[in-house]
Amino acid sequence: MWNRANGRIAEALFHYAGGTWWTRRGLRNSVRILMYHRFPDASGFIEQCAHLRECYRPISLSAAVSAIRSGGPIPERAVVVTVDDGYRDFLERAFPALSSHGIPATVFLTTDLPDRKTWLWVDQVSHCVRNARVRELAASIGDPQTWKFDSDGARERAALSIKEALKKVSDQERVDWLKKLPGLLRVELPDRPPPSYAPLEWDDVRFLSTRGVEFGAHTRTHPILSRLERHEQLESEICGSKTRIEAETQARVRHFCYPNGHRADYTASAIEIVKDAGFESAVTAGQGVNHSGADVFELRRIGVEPRETLMRFARVVAGYGLKTRDNA
Ligand SMILES: [Zn+2]
Repeated sequence: MWNRANGRIAEALFHYAGGTWWTRRGLRNSVRILMYHRFPDASGFIEQCAHLRECYRPISLSAAVSAIRSGGPIPERAVVVTVDDGYRDFLERAFPALSSHGIPATVFLTTDLPDRKTWLWVDQVSHCVRNARVRELAASIGDPQTWKFDSDGARERAALSIKEALKKVSDQERVDWLKKLPGLLRVELPDRPPPSYAPLEWDDVRFLSTRGVEFGAHTRTHPILSRLERHEQLESEICGSKTRIEAETQARVRHFCYPNGHRADYTASAIEIVKDAGFESAVTAGQGVNHSGADVFELRRIGVEPRETLMRFARVVAGYGLKTRDNA
């Protein structure tokens, strides 16, 4: 409590002493690519859009990639909004605010979701753990561990920890665990996601793409690419998602997003397949800004949440605490 209060005071001092302004100015010749996922409510996001409009120059990812590739000067204070996974809350809560502020956005779709073949595996784990009818689970997902489900907090921690463990095992092992988990936790797993995890449908995607939203590919099933064992699986996940979006929207898909996106989550072969498939860029979850001439197949982003305070959002987007070097 004491620490949190002090943190807030330090944050406010930094902001009002001009720290946010100076950080923003120091990184003005680089592109900031913001990474959003979910939009649980609209009000915070409307304020964030107003801030981006007031303090930055929102541009599309395609425009940013052209500028970075050209090696020439980057439009001053350029910012790009990207949204991963393709939940339906984007249409309901984010798109109205973006469109009223004239801010373009790129949404990275995991295409088996609108294809109604599955729902996001990390959400399946959350659902199973939240509704588990056992008190604990002792299992070896990688290392042996015991997860307890005796309070809401314990369930949240367990869900996070099981997801992290599943990201580290082979893809086949992850798929096998996902099949076993509902039985072990005595949960009924529906074929289609509950409303809180609903994805965009293809009709939504077509509607949004005619209104300035650009769609990028984010694989078919959201596996951790570095855990896939066969080259054909990598190709099917990367190229398959591009082909599906292009067939449904009749628009070229130019950009790719690596699932989970940290350096350990994708490989040199994945990057090669992305290039060969004809993508113009790929974004990661590596924190940072992008200077002119940066590697456009490993673009850095700044992770943000619609729920964070405007002061924190302003500071994070300004680039406080980020790496300022190119993608080494
Ligand atoms: Zn994702």
